[in-house]
Amino acid sequence: DEPFPGGAVVPPIYQTSLFTFANYAEMAETFAGKRRQPIYSRGDNPTVMEFEARVAALEGAEAARGFSSGMAAISATVLAFVGAGERIVAVRNCYGDAYRLFERLLPRLNIKVDYVDGSDPDAVAAALPGAKLLYLESPTSMMFELQDIAHLTRLAKEQGIVTTIDNSWATPVFQKPITHGVDLVLHSASKYLGGHSDTVAGVVAGSAAHIKHINEQTYSYLGGKLSPFEAWLLLRGLRTLPLRLPHHMKSGLTIAERLKAHAAVERVNHPVYSNHPGKATLAGYAGLFSFEVTDEIDIPVFVDSLKYFRIGVS
Ligand SMILES: *Cc1c(COP(=O)(O)O)cnc(C)c1O
Repeated sequence: DEPFPGGAVVPPIYQTSLFTFANYAEMAETFAGKRRQPIYSRGDNPTVMEFEARVAALEGAEAARGFSSGMAAISATVLAFVGAGERIVAVRNCYGDAYRLFERLLPRLNIKVDYVDGSDPDAVAAALPGAKLLYLESPTSMMFELQDIAHLTRLAKEQGIVTTIDNSWATPVFQKPITHGVDLVLHSASKYLGGHSDTVAGVVAGSAAHIKHINEQTYSYLGGKLSPFEAWLLLRGLRTLPLRLPHHMKSGLTIAERLKAHAAVERVNHPVYSNHPGKATLAGYAGLFSFEVTDEIDIPVFVDSLKYFRIGVS
């Protein structure tokens, strides 16, 4: 790696809206795309580019694009590949606001979304013909259902369908979807990538051609760009990602095991208890899971009695 300006060990925050050119020729060549140089921070910014390069490296992707939130990454990615009269196949129980994007905004653009049980390859195969995009999330939000990523991606590829996956839960430490054929990997960087509950951000990683397509179709015009300060916080978070995830795994499994052994717990939704083939692509387990209690448990009383947990999202 080249040292940062002044020999700084940490990338500086380029808190600037625009970047100036030495002369007319330099500007003209940059605008013509003959050289890549930051022009304006709604496009490229060096602190953000540093974050994008590291996420791309972690995911085994050629390129990545940072966004102001996970939802900005999801909406800009989906809208870059699907247009009026076209169709998406999405796994059921995908992240709630992704589902609401699909249900509220996309119908107004005449884009249809069909939901499938992603754990069932036959159901996915039956829904795919004619679709433009396959939207995966393994494990799914709340229910933690797994998908056989390699199998589903192969089915989509045979029909030229672009595949995306929300990898926020596993992170590239525990799952690298690109190595299993997925085209584009999405993250809410607000969660494990950031890791300190002080940032809302998103990112998508994939081939240079796919990221270029997103840049050209939606990124600059929807305008949900990542701020240099947030990118700097994320770069700090990424430094400890491989140390944090094994600890989340250990804590999560300890609590899941205790709940599973408890008489008042009916079911623990944690991928560790699944025997689905989709488990094979997970090198470990993040800390988030859900559980279902028996009827005799008064849920509000239970939640308000917790001593070590605070009540919130994320
Ligand atoms: C939080 C979350 C998102 C949305 O990300 P934001 O950064 O909140 O916009 C998307 N997918 C998953 C799995 C999430 O947990």
